Amino acid sequence: MTMLDALVVGKGPAALACAAALAERGVSTGVLGPAGEVHWPAKYGVWADELQDAGVPPLFDQTWPRAVVHAGRPHRLERTYARVDNARMAAWLAGRCGRAGVRTMDGAATGFSARTAATAVRLHEGGTVEARLVVDATGHKPALLPRQERPAQAYQTALGWTIEADVHPFAPGEAVLMDWRDGHLPAGERGGFPTFLYAFPLADGRIFVEETALAARPALPLALLETRLWRRLDGMGVRVRRVVDREEVWIPMGGELPRRHARVVGFGAAGGFVHPATGYSLARSLAAAPALAEAVAAALDTPGATPESATAAAWDAMWPADRRRRFALFRFGMEQLVRMDGDAARDFFDSFFSLPDADWRGYLSDRLTAREVSGVMARLFTHASGGTRRRLALGTLGPGGRDLAASLLHTAVRAG
Ligand SMILES: Cc1cc2nc3c(=O)[nH]c(=O)nc-3n(C[C@H](O)[C@H](O)[C@H](O)COP(=O)(O)OP(=O)(O)OC[C@H]3O[C@@H](n4cnc5c(N)ncnc54)[C@H](O)[C@@H]3O)c2cc1C
Repeated sequence: MTMLDALVVGKGPAALACAAALAERGVSTGVLGPAGEVHWPAKYGVWADELQDAGVPPLFDQTWPRAVVHAGRPHRLERTYARVDNARMAAWLAGRCGRAGVRTMDGAATGFSARTAATAVRLHEGGTVEARLVVDATGHKPALLPRQERPAQAYQTALGWTIEADVHPFAPGEAVLMDWRDGHLPAGERGGFPTFLYAFPLADGRIFVEETALAARPALPLALLETRLWRRLDGMGVRVRRVVDREEVWIPMGGELPRRHARVVGFGAAGGFVHPATGYSLARSLAAAPALAEAVAAALDTPGATPESATAAAWDAMWPADRRRRFALFRFGMEQLVRMDGDAARDFFDSFFSLPDADWRGYLSDRLTAREVSGVMARLFTHASGGTRRRLALGTLGPGGRDLAASLLHTAVRAG
């Protein structure tokens, strides 16, 4: 059996983007995952410009030219939100893989062994596949990398339905990014753990509605989200005729910064790409693949290259010091979300979406440096209400506060 330069484990969006980029740079690549047609169950929402900037064609099944956030008052965001057409996106990535010569393999990875010139990945079906570099892109529960959850991990959970409704208030062309209003809840539940509605009207007349707990520790149960979704729809006067399908979301948030591993590098959700304050990772995975491929191609071409040197080069390309500091800042942001009740969340997001466009767009994306993220946080602090300022100041004493202090100190020292 010929040894591969790179084996990418997984067949999700991150794995296919990574495998395509590697092979397009001349790295002999295999991709290993479940047999059969590639199937991505999640319904992915993205900001259209983020995929465009990553050089990804607009493979969307629908776009909304505007998004709205209800947080105290409504904020209308003039930025196109889009829902990815999974089948076309998967076909586009698989096509690139095919044209670049990626070897597609069916199977489940169960572990690996370090050999001198390669890493051998064991398959549940029997046998091994050897490669000089192994990329774990197997999602939120990585198959090969040790899990690095914090002792008390936070989670995003959400329950989504596609519904048919006789009456509803959703405006065409407008995606509801967050609706934090809670007047529909019984008095005793208001001000409890905050959840918001994420919703958009679909071209076929149906509506997608999802009740989301942005970051909670422990995870908010789906049964509670379901009760809240019914109550919310009822309170909004939505007359549901039929629930057509259901999506359950479970995303570990924050967690430990991925550590450098000698033989396996993580990519996508497995590699810690999930934005600690939003739960999104798709745009980052698609945007990061070329940089990873560039670094790996160069490392494997270096005389004396070893599996360890290739893995280290891949990790360094994904996690330069500035990105690690930024992760710490975002994780501080996530820790503040975990502590907020409904009133605090509305107040916070009212301030957040009152920031200049470049600030909130940058914070939600993967594009700012640690210094720029600190700048956004400082402006938010300055312009926030007294209550939010007090909570954020107190937050520096809690989980994530040390991360924040270290990151700000580092940024200040470098700037000075
Ligand atoms: C329901 C849901 C909705 C989401 N919505 C959004 C969103 O709107 N926007 C956004 O940016 N993010 C969203 N996320 C977060 C994140 O972007 C997704 O989780 C995304 O699917 C991560 O992509 P991935 O390729 O890293 O992992 P995955 O999509 O999880 O893919 C992992 C792949 O690895 C394979 N695999 C697993 N174990 C093995 C093994 N042992 N051997 C071989 N293969 C294996 C799986 O079969 C799968 O093909 C959502 C997450 C969920 C769960």
